[in-house]
Amino acid sequence: MSVGIKKSVLDMALSRLDDAMDNIDISDGLKEYIREPRKSVEVSVTVKKDKGDIEIYRGWRVQHNTNRGPAKGGIRYHPDTNLDDIKALALLMTLKCAVVGIPFGGSKGGVAVDPSALSLRELENLTRRYTFEIINIIGPERDIPAPDVGTNAQVMAWIMDTYSMDKGYTVPGVVTGKPIELGGSLGREEATGRGVVYSVLSALKVNHIETTDLTVAIQGFGNVGSNAAKILYDLGFKIVAISDIGGTVYNKNGIDPYKAYEYTKVKGTVAGLKDAETLEREEIFNLPCNILIPAALGNQIKASNAGNIKARFIAEGANAPTTLEADRILQDRGIFIIPDILCNAGGVTVSYFEWVQGNDSYFWSKREVQLKLRDIMEKAFYEVYKISRDRKVDMRKAAMISGVSRVAEAVKLRGIYP
Ligand code: NAD
Repeated sequence: MSVGIKKSVLDMALSRLDDAMDNIDISDGLKEYIREPRKSVEVSVTVKKDKGDIEIYRGWRVQHNTNRGPAKGGIRYHPDTNLDDIKALALLMTLKCAVVGIPFGGSKGGVAVDPSALSLRELENLTRRYTFEIINIIGPERDIPAPDVGTNAQVMAWIMDTYSMDKGYTVPGVVTGKPIELGGSLGREEATGRGVVYSVLSALKVNHIETTDLTVAIQGFGNVGSNAAKILYDLGFKIVAISDIGGTVYNKNGIDPYKAYEYTKVKGTVAGLKDAETLEREEIFNLPCNILIPAALGNQIKASNAGNIKARFIAEGANAPTTLEADRILQDRGIFIIPDILCNAGGVTVSYFEWVQGNDSYFWSKREVQLKLRDIMEKAFYEVYKISRDRKVDMRKAAMISGVSRVAEAVKLRGIYP
């Protein structure tokens, strides 16, 4: 465990996995197999800084499971990232791909670095060196990275270029979330946020709520949070609160997320936004709203703030944002949670579309991407919802059961090598 008696994200993910596996008929050996990552690699990422000195960062790539297809998972640049977190996130990727029924296993990578403290050249060098260190275990048929916290399309372009230089020919399929000019998919940038929105709409539907005249609070205003905010706003929802690393902004009459986004481009944070009150970061969980979207990091909704949440719906844009204790408090309070492995699967789904389009060298329109994404997200939501109703379990356990059943089936069908 990482801190004191607190459970790490890995402990939590494994505990939820165990709970789900206790609900399906599989052997103890198979349970152990599904718990364990197939491969965990730790690397030193050495960077020559602009001032001439050398700095070494710790990096990891974990392939959790490849029974349903090549491993798939983002790369995170964050100072607090560590091997346990990466293992947990890789496990969640395995389950996420299975929940939405796309033919990938799960992986995750990361470097313990604050990317905002590096110059562009240092960031490029760090990315190329990290790619070089993991070059033998990634590839379009092996393990396909994508953006996550602290990384973006430019970082993917550098990974793709480094990998291609090593092979001697261009390999666009080694990453997804690439720039469009390099074979990226239309709609990938906003895909996770859009998937969150489709999940919210499905959740409202099964709860017989027809209106979009509802208020939304969003924690984290990066790729996931800002795109979810813009799409919900366009549908008529009122975004009343947004938070990021710099603080929370609140206006009960609504915030225009497009203006907030432009503001963050200049100021680096939403704090200080005009026509909204700036509050402490943690206040995001105390404010009145109908829907809360955590879209920052893990372990944000915990026992200390779960009791204050006013929302009736929580849509987990982030990975593992809710602790086990908070989960129990929220369930007892009757809050409808759309769990991470279902709610934020839009990103990996459009990554899959990007991989398919790249393999075919035939690219789809944005509309086509959105419609196909909606089909997959809705189908997965209703499958999970049905499990939840049939087995009388909450949506998180239902999603875990859906995912792990598919992984177990793939392992059984393939058998254990040799
Ligand atoms: P990002 O780096 O683009 O944005 C992260 C945001 O969170 C920033 O606005 C940052 O200021 C904010 N933040 C960080 N710490 C915070 C704190 N303590 N309180 C409030 N805000 C804080 O990252 P992203 O790609 O939007 O990812 C966000 C979450 O969604 C992560 O958990 C990630 O794993 C998950 N996710 C991302 C994708 C994707 O396609 N990008 C897909 C699935 C899941």
